[in-house]
Amino acid sequence: MLKPQDRIFLNLYGQDDWRLAGARARGIWDDTKGLLARGRDAIIAEIKNSDLRGRGGAGFPTGMKWSFMPKESERPHYLVVNADESEPGTCKDRDILRFDPHLLLEGCLIASFAIGAKACYIYIRGEYYTEALHLQQAIDEAYAAGLIGKNACKSGWDCDIVLHRGAGAYICGEETALLESLEGRKGQPRLKPPFPANAGLYGCPSTINNVETIAVTPTILRRGATWFAGLGQPKNTGSKIFCISGHVNKPCNVEEEMGIPLRDLIEKHAGGVRGGWDNLLAVIPGGSSVPLIPREICDTVLMNFDSLREVRSGLGTAAVIVMDKSTDLIRAIARLSYFYKHESCGQCTPCREGTGWLWRMMDRIAKGQADLSEIDVLEQVAGQIEGHTICAFGDAAAWPVQGLLRHFRPMVEQRILQQAARNSKTPKLTKGRATAA
Ligand code: SF4
Repeated sequence: MLKPQDRIFLNLYGQDDWRLAGARARGIWDDTKGLLARGRDAIIAEIKNSDLRGRGGAGFPTGMKWSFMPKESERPHYLVVNADESEPGTCKDRDILRFDPHLLLEGCLIASFAIGAKACYIYIRGEYYTEALHLQQAIDEAYAAGLIGKNACKSGWDCDIVLHRGAGAYICGEETALLESLEGRKGQPRLKPPFPANAGLYGCPSTINNVETIAVTPTILRRGATWFAGLGQPKNTGSKIFCISGHVNKPCNVEEEMGIPLRDLIEKHAGGVRGGWDNLLAVIPGGSSVPLIPREICDTVLMNFDSLREVRSGLGTAAVIVMDKSTDLIRAIARLSYFYKHESCGQCTPCREGTGWLWRMMDRIAKGQADLSEIDVLEQVAGQIEGHTICAFGDAAAWPVQGLLRHFRPMVEQRILQQAARNSKTPKLTKGRATAA
């Protein structure tokens, strides 16, 4: 378990002042000039040594991502912070944005300096209204105090931070769709390569990082890579904000050590599963885009990138959605399929058409209107989407369905057979008289 002295997010629950005075009292903006004075290479090396992996879902090593930016370039460099938090079940960045915005802003300055960017854009989802207000107020305070802008923190480095509000499309959380949207176009993912480090925002070298990733970097620099790497497991280091929702007694956001056992996370922080651990049916461990895991796996799995990959799921955004035995799992996954059908940007055929297929078939199965043979078709459709699309959205749409079939196929078959049995007993009207079918 994470010791209190190792916590990075000291105002996660908004109990203290989120404005500049409160932030300074928590140590934020404390000798930021001294951190910048270490130089770009030393900062990137420290982040690399900490083994910090991106907190937005993919888990890519942050220091390595920063090192991809060209050292010298005629073109401007940009840092883009992805605050388009839209993954169902996920609300961690929200609490950073509204309760500790200066933590993010200090990280923005440090990361911008490290990658040679003099401008940083924070792309926040449109629905985060209060969060945008707080963040803008924090930006204004930071400008007024000389912490950002010209000669930020008297470091000699100029860094402007601009807040940009999105309009609510889930796909704009995909980094290249976000760039398109930021440039004023329809939010549709770009083909890669070129990667953003070469041709990102306005065709210039850009790095896109998640809010939580950027927010932890000042603390890593202050306390050292060794301290951060000492938390969690090798290659899965540090602390992490977990969002626990669903059928638990106390849904919450909590900062914990990476790799905490899932069972401990739920029982120690969320008051346990409603009705007790034995009442657990399944958990989606990393936001709606990762495959669910059944209770047998939940008993022992660790909450980190590699352990969850080993059980064919993922840490994703660390949004833990708990479902007890009262859940109609088929309907729950059908609802997710509808979400992905609705949010597909429509550029590639497997995703545009396949997400509709998945939803219609899942809906029919949930209502018991499908035929047994459709389960195999469902599996094939999911397989034909996965890995055959421009962006990872296709995989995200396929995985919940694949997870359901992998672990709960008998339940799906039973639903269809039960309904078929009910239909065969339903009286039908024949020539005005009720007869058994
Ligand atoms: Fe758009 Fe889906 Fe293709 Fe991604 S996978 S580019 S969301 S159609």
